[in-house]
Amino acid sequence: MRTCVGCKRRALIGELLRVVAVAGRVVVDGRRRLPGRGAWLHPDPDCLAKAERRRAFPRALRATGALDAREVREHVGLTTTHHEPGTSPGSRGTKEAGRPVMSQP
Ligand SMILES: [Zn+2]
Repeated sequence: MRTCVGCKRRALIGELLRVVAVAGRVVVDGRRRLPGRGAWLHPDPDCLAKAERRRAFPRALRATGALDAREVREHVGLTTTHHEPGTSPGSRGTKEAGRPVMSQP
């Protein structure tokens, strides 16, 4: 079990996205193999927004400065950048029990 840095709820590792800090950026560790300290987040725009609002990434990843979480934003769909469905390696396609994935309004 790991705690999501966004909603602070505990979840199975398989339900969470692992992110690590690399060169001042937060990157998605899709294979959960990158070295170093990781943070765990639901692949959910709400959780990412909460994590960013409370600056959870720099704290969880022990970063000294601000971190650019653009890649994570794109991964969870929290961006207006063109996103091709089906190409991201994450958990977008997996079923979340009892909870339909809502698209952006
Ligand atoms: Zn969460």
